[in-house]
Amino acid sequence: MTDAPPPQPRTAMQELRGIPVSGGSGVGRALLYEEAPDVRAAAARPPRDLEGEVRRLHEAAERAGADLGALHDSLAASRDAVAQIFFAHRAMLTDFLPRLEVAIRAGSSAEHAVQTVIHAAAAKIARVEDPILSQRAKDVIDIGRRLHRALTGAPAATLPDDDADGPVIVLASDLSPSQAVQLRGRNVAAIALEQGGHTGHAAVIIKSLEIPCVMGVQGLIEASSPGQMVWVDGSSGQVVIEPDAAAMERAVDLGLRYDRLEASLLGESHLPAETIDGHRATLLANIEYPFDVEVGIERGAEGVGLYRTEFLYAGAGQLPTEEQHVAAYREALGRLAGAHLTIRTFDFGADKESPLGTSDPEPNPALGVRSLRWCFEHPDAFRVQLRAILRVAAEGDVRVMLPMVASLEELRRARRLLAEAAEELAREGVAHRADLAVGVMIEIPAAAVTADLLAREADFFSIGTNDLIQYDLAVDRMNPRLEPLFRPSHPSVLRLIERTLEAAAEAGIPVTMCGEMGGQSIYAVLLMGMGLRQFSLTPGYIPRVRRLLRGLTLLEARQLAGECLRAATADEVEALLRARVTPVGAG
Ligand code: PEP
Ligand code: MG
Repeated sequence: MTDAPPPQPRTAMQELRGIPVSGGSGVGRALLYEEAPDVRAAAARPPRDLEGEVRRLHEAAERAGADLGALHDSLAASRDAVAQIFFAHRAMLTDFLPRLEVAIRAGSSAEHAVQTVIHAAAAKIARVEDPILSQRAKDVIDIGRRLHRALTGAPAATLPDDDADGPVIVLASDLSPSQAVQLRGRNVAAIALEQGGHTGHAAVIIKSLEIPCVMGVQGLIEASSPGQMVWVDGSSGQVVIEPDAAAMERAVDLGLRYDRLEASLLGESHLPAETIDGHRATLLANIEYPFDVEVGIERGAEGVGLYRTEFLYAGAGQLPTEEQHVAAYREALGRLAGAHLTIRTFDFGADKESPLGTSDPEPNPALGVRSLRWCFEHPDAFRVQLRAILRVAAEGDVRVMLPMVASLEELRRARRLLAEAAEELAREGVAHRADLAVGVMIEIPAAAVTADLLAREADFFSIGTNDLIQYDLAVDRMNPRLEPLFRPSHPSVLRLIERTLEAAAEAGIPVTMCGEMGGQSIYAVLLMGMGLRQFSLTPGYIPRVRRLLRGLTLLEARQLAGECLRAATADEVEALLRARVTPVGAG
């Protein structure tokens, strides 16, 4: 018996390619972040000593509980909702122990007890009619997995500790948004995943954590083993397993160049995003958690153009209370110190974790009850959120933004619900602000095409290109195989944006772009030329867009935009952009 891991066979260098998702270069030892086998697959081992088996269970539960406690504490400093998940899991784990003991004393092994008791509990919960409760089944399965790992010593999907032996490269088939956020503040040099695309929600989080990342790397897991040296270049999409000496030299050199560029960009954070001929753009931050504000401010964000509030739910398994909403919004507003906060109402579904429940899966979630549709189906949950937004709006510059609006009826219905929530607060004598600005996200082609109608009743627009492109081109934003077809440069996408900008200008309302397109620096030039003046970006993109805009005249940008809008194909548009715009950091 030995606890030491077997020595890693030295293998030849392998080069894999994927989708570059988050820039930068990272080298480290591979950490395979794979789930342990499902508790359903746990082996039944007939126990000889039942009391000994009960002791094993308690020892394992103690280890699992300690892990959960440590996870909770490591996140608690930021007071985010994710920390609460682990707190809840620990309590649930304790609740299961008496039932597990009974099963063991009836003749089961500890593993088999976990398999039967926890899986039966999960199945029962999944059948519950209430979709929010039924979602808890996932948590129960998670607890079962953790306990099973603690019993068997199976390699866990553990995250690296702060004091891990040097930086690690997280390799996984996929990561959920709540798993991604747990990588915050750990010694993760880079991430590579087999699944995913650059606008999915795990990607959004990873970008905001500024960890280099490549997704959609086919054959990644099969090609790698734990502990191998790996180099991930998040800017080019290259993943190198067991890099040879020359590749290592390139990796180190690239890492140094990247760090130098970042430092010099950061030094410009106080400068305005202004063209050479004095035309100013406003750069805002997209955030998922209140603590993201800090990074945004550091990079010179002038406010928050998109707060994705569905992350208050992600992984927590239960919807936030009004006070939890208020606390999160207040925290973000406080960190903004006077700058504005645009709170987007819940955008559950499709690529985001959803309280829809697993008991009644939809055939096509991206075209299903997501977003505003979910809010209309759950008026109580929506009212809780609207009340919280109205309350915090009394304390600073807060705007509300509605995702996935497809028609004027939907905007009117949401406004009515907002007015009702305000009346309710007024009746209760609770301080609030009823006349806050109400914005519409333009992320369904129908909204872009009817932007002139929506502009009459919206206070501002925000163009969500991640979904707008997905729905316009019928390209699933989460499918790595379709990544080459996900093209912001498609003439249809450009026309929808142009139409939106024109309608907003006509009605005199402001437009922001909060989709990832705005952060891809070559497109920022095109968008500036098309008339966009507000960019809400993943914080890490802000410095690049600022530098790019400061290096051109509006006249140049306008000429380029005119040519791009006349081009007949995405290839032509991209060729024009490549010929005239040098991305920051290239060359
Ligand atoms: C978008 O669709 O472009 C957007 C910003 O919203 P999300 O990525 O959260 O769907
Ligand atoms: Mg969207």
